[in-house]
Amino acid sequence: MYRTHTCGELNAKQIGQTVTLSGWAQTIRNKGKMIWVDLRDRYGITQLVFEEGKTNACVWENVKKIGREFVVQVSGKVIERYTKNPNLPTGEIEIQVETLTILNASDIPPFTIEDNTDGGEELRAKYRYLDLRRPVMQKNIYLRHRVTKLVRDYMDGQQFAEIETPYLIKSTPEGARDFVVPSRLHAGNFYALPQSPQTFKQLLMIGGYDRYFQIVKCFRDEDFRADRQPEFTQIDCEMSFVEQEDILQMFEGLMQFVIKEVTGKQLDKFPRIPFEKAMAIYGTDKPDLRFDLPITDLTEIIKGRNFNVFDSAEYIGGIIVPGQAEISRKIIDGLTDYVKTPQVGAKGMVYLKYNGDGSFKSSIDKFYSPEDWQKISSQIGMNSGDILFILSGNRTETLTALGRLRIHLAEHFALINENDFAPLWVTDFPLYEWDEEAQRYNAMHHPFTAPKAEDVGLFETNPAAMHANAYDMVLNGMEIGGGSIRIHDAEVQKKMFRTLNLAEDEINEKFGFIINAFKYGAPPHGGIAFGLDRIVAILAGTSYIRDVIAFPKNNAGRDLMLDSPSEISKEQLDELSLVIKKENSVEK
Ligand code: ASP
Repeated sequence: MYRTHTCGELNAKQIGQTVTLSGWAQTIRNKGKMIWVDLRDRYGITQLVFEEGKTNACVWENVKKIGREFVVQVSGKVIERYTKNPNLPTGEIEIQVETLTILNASDIPPFTIEDNTDGGEELRAKYRYLDLRRPVMQKNIYLRHRVTKLVRDYMDGQQFAEIETPYLIKSTPEGARDFVVPSRLHAGNFYALPQSPQTFKQLLMIGGYDRYFQIVKCFRDEDFRADRQPEFTQIDCEMSFVEQEDILQMFEGLMQFVIKEVTGKQLDKFPRIPFEKAMAIYGTDKPDLRFDLPITDLTEIIKGRNFNVFDSAEYIGGIIVPGQAEISRKIIDGLTDYVKTPQVGAKGMVYLKYNGDGSFKSSIDKFYSPEDWQKISSQIGMNSGDILFILSGNRTETLTALGRLRIHLAEHFALINENDFAPLWVTDFPLYEWDEEAQRYNAMHHPFTAPKAEDVGLFETNPAAMHANAYDMVLNGMEIGGGSIRIHDAEVQKKMFRTLNLAEDEINEKFGFIINAFKYGAPPHGGIAFGLDRIVAILAGTSYIRDVIAFPKNNAGRDLMLDSPSEISKEQLDELSLVIKKENSVEK
């Protein structure tokens, strides 16, 4: 038997017992006559003690051979520790070792296997199996297991069936590029890896499986962006005979359940904010509601004082930060520099201080009198002691810039409570978005999303005005899920594709199978998919999904451990009838 106990469970109650433990030697402290080893496994750390003269001579010789990360098995007596460690569950005891077996040696690890490791990102990625030994990583990976288990419990309790769908498929339209897999047996033909199981889950509804879910890998070949993974995991769900309301309730329940089980916190009913309102008040369709700082529309209020920048602007908006009128010029300059960075893109920023003594100070006092400011501030509910930051320009761009500024201000003034959970639904998305570059409409969600019933007549006349039965779940400023009620009528589906500028033969070639299926009694249906990685990351309190994925790729989409993607042999290429052109590689 390799062990009678784990390294995390022994305490004063077991004093006097003889036990056997197995694990990794985390640290070895050799004080000449005494040697202490911290033995680590999944469950914790237990201190081992060896003493010259007292410990069996053979064991004493052996312990001196142990290095960091050696795998060892020991037996010995649980004794009370002389200096106790109250921070460790096993901190009251240590093991007086009687027998020691080195189960496996280890090279010196390239970084320390501790939460505060000295290993950099790259090194840890290359030796991911060592990184995974670190307690913080273990915590994250077990949390992930726990979350998936809770999801399965909830879904099972609601009569959902987990059904697998294939990975080798044909393109699915989620708006990203497909990863493709060449077919050896059908030279020149390719499978695509699913960007999501979207079409399959709809076919399952047509197949009569009215509550489906799947914890499933999805693949999207997108340009590299921080914290994007080319393969990621969705909690993918679909239901038949439902309206939007049924779905919102079902999946609000899922998130409430998971968060309650993991954190003990019972979340209230999720607020619902229509897309337009979210954009107008928070400058984003994924607002962080852990703090307030709404955007105020000043367009009609502030124009007409001969300040050309404002008078010529399509939109003027501001954010009041309560109680911060005292901040220094230097801080304001810093905030102004921030809005001018490319990621925000504003040309400049106007500020207005409503001082504690009732006076006003702004960067455009040439154009506005104290009476003007008095009027404006009372119209927008600004109090003495507050400061207002104003951006102006094109409406959409300015709102987006204000959205970024809003988050920056919250961070700067420490208004975010990291332990809060602020979920919401964003609803009533536009059905289409205009693609300026391609000069055509794209589906804002995906082309299977049903328009609002009252907008169905607008396909031919005014697609831009159509709204969708689509919804996103947002948590702490991150989109964690999104879905829609689907089109289940073959004719409506065709109209949708036509508006997307797909030619008839293209529609048939790409989506004939699903349009055809709609002809055989497709039930009304809808669903949602959640980003599992992101949900676990939020619950783990990390900003990086790679921290909650056992074997992630780096930001350039590479697996540094496997050194993948990599070239394949000439024979393999020939077998697949492929010829390689190198010009397109990002590495060139
Ligand atoms: N398939 C969609 C996605 O991956 C989710 C859904 O509409 O259910 O975003």
